[in-house]
This record gives sequence, structure tokens and C-alpha cells, in this order.
Amino acid sequence: MIMKVPFADLKAQYISIKSEIDLAIEDILINTSFVGGAKVKAFEAEFASYIGTEHCISCANGTDAIEIALQAMGIGKGDEVIVPAMSWFATSEAVTTVGAKPIFADVLMDEWTIDPADIRDKITKNTKAIIPVHFYGRAARMVEIMAIATEFALKVVEDSAQAHGAAFGNQNIGTFGDAATFSFYPGKNLGAYGDAGAIVTNNDDLAHTCRLITNHGMIAKHDHRLEGRNSRMDTLQASVLSVKLKHLEGWTEQRIKHAQYYNEQLSSLSLRIPLIQEEHKHVFHVYVIQVRDRMKVKTELANRGVATQVHYPQALPALIPYQSKFDVSDFPVAKSLAAEGLSLPIFPEMTKDQIDFIVGQLKEVLDS
Ligand SMILES: *Cc1c(COP(=O)(O)O)cnc(C)c1O
Repeated sequence: MIMKVPFADLKAQYISIKSEIDLAIEDILINTSFVGGAKVKAFEAEFASYIGTEHCISCANGTDAIEIALQAMGIGKGDEVIVPAMSWFATSEAVTTVGAKPIFADVLMDEWTIDPADIRDKITKNTKAIIPVHFYGRAARMVEIMAIATEFALKVVEDSAQAHGAAFGNQNIGTFGDAATFSFYPGKNLGAYGDAGAIVTNNDDLAHTCRLITNHGMIAKHDHRLEGRNSRMDTLQASVLSVKLKHLEGWTEQRIKHAQYYNEQLSSLSLRIPLIQEEHKHVFHVYVIQVRDRMKVKTELANRGVATQVHYPQALPALIPYQSKFDVSDFPVAKSLAAEGLSLPIFPEMTKDQIDFIVGQLKEVLDS
């Protein structure tokens, strides 16, 4: 059997909810309210309730969300913020944008989230915050991280861009730290049809400051209380997200089912499969295996119709903006993941036949 399996299929998802989405978009066009307004308020309330926080402040994207949370906490020049050595670039970039310094800590083998022991090692008198990333859809070790934060009076911003609906134990991610940030970039587990993001928190003052920052520090028209920025969510995106949020748990269940099936099928091969721990809800934003000769496997799978990606080919300290200040060999686990990680297709709408095909092709590639 010959197939072509895409890495993700946003069109299949759109088709599955087309009537609801089209209606929501038409409503926006007819009402000509394009930025903010009741639909944005409604999505904020729905998302806060989904995560289980008092507040949700929408903004323009997930990178802004991190910057706004840090700025609202008063983090800036002279401050250090500890971030994982393996994440998407925005995590560390946001720290620099607010004027602070990102300090990397290695990630844990097999869990791929920030190593609490290395956080401890990296704390100095200038450390102000930790940004754990719920990487690939798996919760970071939030209980240990919060204990360290309490001990050293550090703020915690959970970068939850890859983990909508994940949990650590029986507590949702996004409810542990002082604030958590989300991206609704189209490819994320909850994706808009353009850029969008949000900050969630239980802290009233922090929520208020974040809200001001997202809209030029304005408390009312012409009344600017501080210098913020323009980082608002489009009404169209909020409407799309409200429709999609209703489907998210169902989609997440499918992702988890696909990941479990992959794991069963791949467990006897000479590669590392993702660790699935019953007690934590991993929402599988991506399904990452670790294989030797990663690029060869990737190319051969592509020749056989299977699209894969790499998340990510470099650990953050190896990237140009950090090369002169850090040595990537100090982060051996992040470095090994960057060298050997390969993301296989995973999306809610994929079929068992597609996974069987991918597994079959992968077996042949590894045997050849
Ligand atoms: C996608 C992502 C971001 C940035 O979100 P944008 O909406 O693209 O700005 C931040 N952190 C992580 C871990 C991400 O995956």
C-alpha cells in the first residue's frame, strides 16, 4: 500500500467543523467589529474556565504573552530568567526583549522538560524568574519547580504554547505558576486562523497590569497609565478559537490515542519512544522519537511519502545570539535531543491506516 502522509492536516480539521466556523466568521463580517469586543471577552472567559484560572488576558501571539507577563512582573534590566536549553526560540527571545538575561538549564532525558536540579545550579542573586516549558505537550515537573521558586522567591511563568489542556498529576498546567502563557498559532493544539495568544493567572493585580500592557496602558480612552504596546486579539480569531475550544478535548483524546498506538507499534525498534506516564496528561503537540542517523531516516521517510519535522535541530545555547555566551556541550541532554529527535506526523484526524503505513515505512528504513 502506497500513501502520502502529511505532517499535519489543518484542512481536514477545518472541513470537520466548516459549518460552525463559516457561521462564526460571517457573523464577524456582518457586525464589523474586528478588534476586541464581546467575542474576545467571551473567549477569554471560556479559556480561563477551561484552564481553571480566574483571569485570561488575550493578546496578539504567544511571544507577546511571555514578554507581557515578564514586564508585568517588573522583570527587566539586570535580571536573570532561567529557561530550558531546549525550547522554541521565543522562550529565551522574550526574556531578552524585556531587557533581562536568559540563563539556560538542561532538560531531563526522556521527559524533555527543564531539569529542576539544573535550575538550582543556575540560581544567582540576580535570578528573578523561571520559565518552565511544557515541551511537546508534556507538563514540566511543576511540583519541584514551584518548591524551588518558593524557596528562592522567584516568579514562575509557564510557557504553555505547546500544551493546551495538559496536566501534571491531576492539576492543569497553567495553574501552577504566577502566570502561564499560551500561543494559538495555527499549528498549535488550539490554533487560530492567524496569530493569537493569551496570558492566564489567578493574581488580580498581575492580570490588571497585563491587561493594561496589551492595550497601550489604557484604562479608558485617552487615559494611559503606563507604557505598554498594541498586542490585541482580533475578534475573528477569538470567534474561531471559541468554536475550536469546544472540540479541543475530543481532539486531544485522539492525539493521546495515536501516541499510545505509535508507542505499542514502535516499542521493539532500535529507537527511543516518548515516555507516557499514566499520572500526567501529555497532550502530544508533537510525537518525537530519538533515532541515530536522524537526517538519513528523515530523508528516506520523505522519499516514501512520510512528512516529518525536527523540533528543534539546535539546542537554544547553540544558536547564533547565544553562541558567544554559552557552550552547548554544557547541556548534553538538550544537545542529544537536537541531534537525534524526529517528529512523526500526529494530528487528531489521522487514521490508524496512516499510522500503520508510517510504522511500516520506518521499520523498513531502519532495517535497510
Ligand atoms: C509557538 C511557541 C511560542 C511562541 O508563540 P507564537 O504565538 O508563535 O508567538 C513560544 N513558546 C513555545 C514553546 C512555542 O512552541
